[in-house]
Amino acid sequence: MANWLFRKSDSASVTGVPRRARAGATFAAELTFDNVVKTYGERNALDHFSLVVAPGEVVCLLGPSGCGKTTLLRVTAGIERPTGGRILINDLEVAGSQRFMQPEDRGVGLMFQDFALFPHLTIVENVAFGLKALPREDARREALAILSRVGLERYADQYPHILSGGQQQRIALARAIVPRPAVMLMDEPFSGLDVQLRDAMQQETLALIRETRATSVIVTHHPEEAMRLGDRIVVMRAGKLVQTGRAEDLYQRPAELFVARLFSEINEIEARVDAGRIVTPFGVVAAPGLDNGASAILCIRERGVGLVSAPSNGGYGSATGLMGRVRDAKFLGDAVRYEVGVQGFDQPLNVRTAAGLQIGKGSEVRLHIDPEQVLIFPSNGVKTS
Ligand code: ATP
Repeated sequence: MANWLFRKSDSASVTGVPRRARAGATFAAELTFDNVVKTYGERNALDHFSLVVAPGEVVCLLGPSGCGKTTLLRVTAGIERPTGGRILINDLEVAGSQRFMQPEDRGVGLMFQDFALFPHLTIVENVAFGLKALPREDARREALAILSRVGLERYADQYPHILSGGQQQRIALARAIVPRPAVMLMDEPFSGLDVQLRDAMQQETLALIRETRATSVIVTHHPEEAMRLGDRIVVMRAGKLVQTGRAEDLYQRPAELFVARLFSEINEIEARVDAGRIVTPFGVVAAPGLDNGASAILCIRERGVGLVSAPSNGGYGSATGLMGRVRDAKFLGDAVRYEVGVQGFDQPLNVRTAAGLQIGKGSEVRLHIDPEQVLIFPSNGVKTS
């Protein structure tokens, strides 16, 4: 492992973590949002947002456009002041009613979506930019060490325009991480990369932030990216935290229909609760906590439905399962998506199966619904317990 990661700082900032401009080892820091509000005019970009990110944890922020993800990074970095609430790094208030600490004193690194490299500076100068407090030669040595870590040392004295998108991403990452920030903030760091490159860059980035032990918050629009990168995922909507947990928790036990929709393709069917359960064409499903007679939404994951041609028993036993007829079949590469008219359902069901032998349009089929892949929500989409 590169020794630039482990050199001790000769001075720490007031947060107890190295100053951004100093070359020090990263000390894992706890990052706390305590009821943070950020208002622009009438709009609450952040609406009483609270969260504690553990030292060294990698959290992915997921949510629709405009839900406040970038604003959260900006108030953490000190580019914006929160309107209310507090932000703490290692128990020290960096933003709040009592204090506003300057960005350079927070030990926070920020990486933007567009990489924001300076075109008029060489690559090594770009990387050394955050090390201004070091003597020039020391800053260059540090910058070269991390350039070597990301495999781009040979481009040190060239200018950014000659680099590919992936190389620019590596340089932006190197620049953000070379001062060894205790907290690393990344705003959609992979969105500018093509799909082939994205996977490799995600893995490289994760490896680098694990090495530095920086507590990290990564903004993304993509649930799969969040599941892949985050120790924990935070789902936001309209400036609020909707749900946080491990990827499995959010997938298996989404607190809201909105969260369920993020993590899998689902069929949503209106239903009515009858004595704590919902009677469906495929059997009875428990609906705990919902009032008798209340309307509810029955959600069936598209991948939670087994599909076989009707004459075949497909291993399910003879002639079992719901009868249906394929109305449409779309080949999607690694899956086939069927639209199936199903006995007992007023609306067709969408079904995704692993791509294999495709069942043709108009074919009769039998469907088997896995009860584990069924979720029930109240009609407002928000679970109360
Ligand atoms: P995206 O995923 O599209 O980047 P986001 O979740 O990062 O969106 P923010 O950029 O944080 O959302 O914006 C949150 C809300 O605050 C939006 O409604 C946006 O229009 C508003 N907003 C953000 N910055 C400003 C500003 N400087 N002035 C006025 N409104 C702003």
